[in-house]
Amino acid sequence: MTSLPDARLFIGGQLRDAKGGRTFDIIGPWTGAPVGRAADASVQDIEDAIAAARRAFDDTDWPTNVDLRVSLVQKLYDLFDANRGRLSDLARHEAGAAMGAVGRAHVDMAMDGWKDYLAVFPQVQWQKSYGERSGYGMMHERIAVYEPVGVVGAITPWNVPLYVNVGKVVAALLAGCTVILKPAPNTPGMGAIFGELAAQAGFPPGVINVVFGEDAALAGEMLVKDPRVDLISFTGSTGVGKRIMEQGAATLKRVFLELGGKSAKIVLEDSENFAMDVATTMLVFHAGQGCAVHSRLLVPQSRYEEAKAILKAAYANFGDNWGDFDNPGQIMGPVISRRQMERVLSYIALGEEEGATLLAGGKARPDKAGGFFIEPTCFVDVDNSMRIAQEEIFGPVLVVIPFQDDDDAVRIANESSYGLSGGVASGSLDRAMAVARRVRTGSVSVNGGMCIAGDLPFGGYKSSGIGREWGLEGIEEYLETKLIAWRK
Ligand code: NAD
Repeated sequence: MTSLPDARLFIGGQLRDAKGGRTFDIIGPWTGAPVGRAADASVQDIEDAIAAARRAFDDTDWPTNVDLRVSLVQKLYDLFDANRGRLSDLARHEAGAAMGAVGRAHVDMAMDGWKDYLAVFPQVQWQKSYGERSGYGMMHERIAVYEPVGVVGAITPWNVPLYVNVGKVVAALLAGCTVILKPAPNTPGMGAIFGELAAQAGFPPGVINVVFGEDAALAGEMLVKDPRVDLISFTGSTGVGKRIMEQGAATLKRVFLELGGKSAKIVLEDSENFAMDVATTMLVFHAGQGCAVHSRLLVPQSRYEEAKAILKAAYANFGDNWGDFDNPGQIMGPVISRRQMERVLSYIALGEEEGATLLAGGKARPDKAGGFFIEPTCFVDVDNSMRIAQEEIFGPVLVVIPFQDDDDAVRIANESSYGLSGGVASGSLDRAMAVARRVRTGSVSVNGGMCIAGDLPFGGYKSSGIGREWGLEGIEEYLETKLIAWRK
């Protein structure tokens, strides 16, 4: 089934095929068969994109013309808005989004976030006074001005590609940067549409460029190493994030990293809706492929057996109601690729070897539609030191860990190299807040509070990243501070 338009590169204002004409198949996760074709950018294409972005930053008024930026970013929003149907198709075919998940985690969430960026943009402070100060026998007036950092290489993953692409591209453009967007090889179409619609919106050549290729690392590494690129904004795995820091060191690259997670939800024994707090942690939405999902469930030892029974019933109730491309009520489809499916299955085998008990799921389900399907899976009797509790699986696999008291719960939640998100449920808001304050993560949801939205800064502690995306802070990541002082 080939149903997507060809994904073309966008370089220096031109939509184009790769130099040399190479293309690659976009493999659809539902069937494992190609759903489209994408240009396979050559080294020369990537060179051209970097040069175009540099020229647009250095030689045009893009970095200083705020009105132009706001009007074009708004125009681009309107074009995306008019193409929601295509965006949904891309999310479903390329990223494997189930129909019931397309809005929440893909199209609506990204478009809402875009609107939030436009809404907070007037709050950006372009200048700040530090007042007068005497020195060297005279008075000095001091101000800071905030300027766009320059050329941004935006490297993005496949799991929620529109959301992450918008998170980076829109913020960088509003800040006055020029951008080279480099989407993952699994989801080039969700990158290519930025080029296509930017061309329609009439962006100056080179302000937005989009390159992608079959080789996952080639274009990204070129962006990271090139001295003409001022900042790398990366979302993806912690392993690649570390490599970007290492390789960026040669040019002292500014790096902004949104990385993996192994977030814990703590359900305290006084939770008022214990059954709901436990059952809703089932890791099924978008097959568990979210960086901020709660993939460790921490429940009190005193109610562990009860929690197990609740989960057993919840998984049984969820049953086989997933993996159907055309069912608008479903929230779970396949995982992204054969490689990812094999990786997740190897973690399931590891969990059994490590002595955890499989409460639900555990198997591949190629019978669904031939693609990369894994059953909703839950391990109990998990110790936090096990690899299945420490490493990011990035699939529909929940691990359930008992704790003794609040201190123990905090200790377990924090005994992780990651620090992206978390959750606390309790009948006492004070008690939940006390626990939330002790958890070392970039966000914590208390009693189901929504802490991911386009007007809120999002990011990680520890190995989950550096910097904050979305909200005012998300735009300010793309600014430099210049201090100017003059004698009075
Ligand atoms: P990945 O790290 O494999 O790839 C991410 C991007 O980096 C892709 O575009 C890929 O082509 C590119 N890349 C690969 N090797 C590179 C290299 N050597 N140099 C430069 N770029 C390179 O991640 P993925 O598998 O696409 O996505 C899943 C990961 O993303 C998970 O770890 C998930 O937690 C993380 N993620 C984090 C957030 C967040 O905001 N913190 C959001 C979504 C996903």
